[in-house]
Amino acid sequence: LPGLALSYEESHHFREIAFSSPQEARANATFYTLCRNSDLFDILETIQNYNYRFNNRYHYDWVFLNDQPFTEEFIKLVNASVAGEAHFGLIPKEQWSLPDSVNIAEMKRGMDKLMNDPDGAVPYGDSLSYRHMCRFESGFFYRHELLQRYDYFWRVEPGVRLRCEVRYDLFKYLQDGNYDYGFTISLLEYPKTIPSLFSTFRKSLHDLGVDGLLADPNNYSGFIVDRNTGEYNYCHFWTNFEIGNLNVFRSRQYNEIFEKLDQTNGFYYERWGDAPVRSLILSTILERGRIKRLANIGYTHPPYTQCPRQESLRIADRCSCNPETDITEKYFSCSWYFDQLSL
Ligand code: GDP
Ligand code: MN
Repeated sequence: LPGLALSYEESHHFREIAFSSPQEARANATFYTLCRNSDLFDILETIQNYNYRFNNRYHYDWVFLNDQPFTEEFIKLVNASVAGEAHFGLIPKEQWSLPDSVNIAEMKRGMDKLMNDPDGAVPYGDSLSYRHMCRFESGFFYRHELLQRYDYFWRVEPGVRLRCEVRYDLFKYLQDGNYDYGFTISLLEYPKTIPSLFSTFRKSLHDLGVDGLLADPNNYSGFIVDRNTGEYNYCHFWTNFEIGNLNVFRSRQYNEIFEKLDQTNGFYYERWGDAPVRSLILSTILERGRIKRLANIGYTHPPYTQCPRQESLRIADRCSCNPETDITEKYFSCSWYFDQLSL
């Protein structure tokens, strides 16, 4: 560069900027999908969508877990599609089975109650595999050996779509911003699936000597506790999209609370979702500033969509979603409520 006298450090810095590819600056991170072999064609379409919207530029790995061995066909076709390395794992049997302490008759009674609800059968009311899934996603996925080498994960389900380009490295954004958890959609949970979750949660915190967390202004307890009644308001991060720091999930505090909840077998007697469980724990153990609502990410998991409202943003990111379908300000969304907290 004629006329520019650069010191060694300056020229070195310049070289780094000029020659660093997105790959060199990547975070230690992976996509993560739990699915069945029968989800193959839905997940292929989703992988292509994530490639086009994000991962063709960054080449992050993708970990697939299943309670059954993945078929050769699944592995072959998914391997050919993922833009980074794909890894396929089997879930240990004991993490996808009824604990010995579950009373089967009590579980069946709970299932019948949900199926015969006067307002209509509750989704997955009598599904055992759904209960295993919710428990696994709440307290086990981050312990799987294939995830041990990573610091961050981004959960993806078969059939979901990114509706806008993500033109920056979202993992790095999390890391550089010191965020531990990012979400798009947040919602109110069906109370009938979690009648005793919050009282069990409160008792768990009490037993662990940390009751104070439920009224702490420095965490996100205001997101989950109604300040007037002191009760759960049913807000939860919709976990089919989540991006987070695995070290938080692997922390002693997260796991002590999970174990307390799990010991009551509420995942089986009721139908506790991983979303409310996750949201209660993270909202109390994470300090303000650690959770980020990713408002500009266009995302659909049927039947709900988050779609940025500003047209300029939708043009820049080539969004394909209809802003009128955006869930953010609906009464059953908790995202506008989260924003009020963070102001
Ligand atoms: P919903 O979003 O609550 O309706 O539940 P989904 O059916 O989407 O399940 C949530 C996630 O768990 C998805 O990634 C599914 O692929 C996965 N999943 C659900 N049930 C099973 C199962 O029995 N086995 C496996 N391997 N994955 C499952
Ligand atoms: Mn789903």
